[in-house]
Amino acid sequence: MKSFNQKAKITLVGAGPGDPELLTLKGLRAIKTADVILYDSLANPELLDHNPYAHKVFVGKRKGSQRFSQEQINSLLVDFAKFPYHIVRLKGGDPMVFGRAMEEIETARAHNIPVEVIPGISSYSGAAAYQQVPITERGISRSFWVVTGTDKDGQLSTDLALAARSSATVIVLMGMSKLTEIVDLFSQHKPLDYPVSIVQNATLPDARSLSGQLDNIVALNTIAQLASPGLLIFGAAARNLDDIEQEMAAIKTRKQ
Ligand code: SAH
Repeated sequence: MKSFNQKAKITLVGAGPGDPELLTLKGLRAIKTADVILYDSLANPELLDHNPYAHKVFVGKRKGSQRFSQEQINSLLVDFAKFPYHIVRLKGGDPMVFGRAMEEIETARAHNIPVEVIPGISSYSGAAAYQQVPITERGISRSFWVVTGTDKDGQLSTDLALAARSSATVIVLMGMSKLTEIVDLFSQHKPLDYPVSIVQNATLPDARSLSGQLDNIVALNTIAQLASPGLLIFGAAARNLDDIEQEMAAIKTRKQ
């Protein structure tokens, strides 16, 4: 039986985008020394196998419904700290990117519980690397925006309207359910052949991607049916995904 840590501590660990090997060594060490791990639905559950002794609590969303509210998660952190436990809060991607990390950090601070954050590879970065889509490219794309599709009140985020006007590569997280509205928004500011890609389950063996342009991506996706967790990439960089898919198709044809 593993002895518990003497001092309470909370470590927010970025689980990476999906592939369980995309975890930092520091994150691995935190998992191995945890007494309890609170994990999200986007954190690959294989990561829990690194510590057979820790108590594991799933606090993510399942089929759209949240088992624990953010307030309940914050209370759990405080309750477990009383034991005192080393609590790992395992979050998909990077905790500081749309991860509500600040609410947990503030809870820890308010209760004088030491807190540390270990970064993870965010889904936008994992998708870019595994799909070989550069999100900046010399002479083509000088910056990128990572924007949420949905505000906390369920509306399209106001930043999206600004992003759609920019020449940056725009990556939209949490936007799959609003694909049509987001594409409409970009169509107001960009030519209809502006490149768009969708990546679902980036970095996982069942990753899927779809490339098109503003005037056909919605129609293409009614056939392909890419869904959550997925992200959208708008801009010149997205065209590379298309090129690669064409190359792959050409290679396959050559092999036949
Ligand atoms: N902290 C996370 C983001 C959390 S918000 C990060 O850094 O990636 C959740 C959104 O992330 C999802 O709605 C989806 O848009 C995106 N996402 C997370 N994992 C993904 C994956 N493997 N493939 C595609 N999108 C993903």
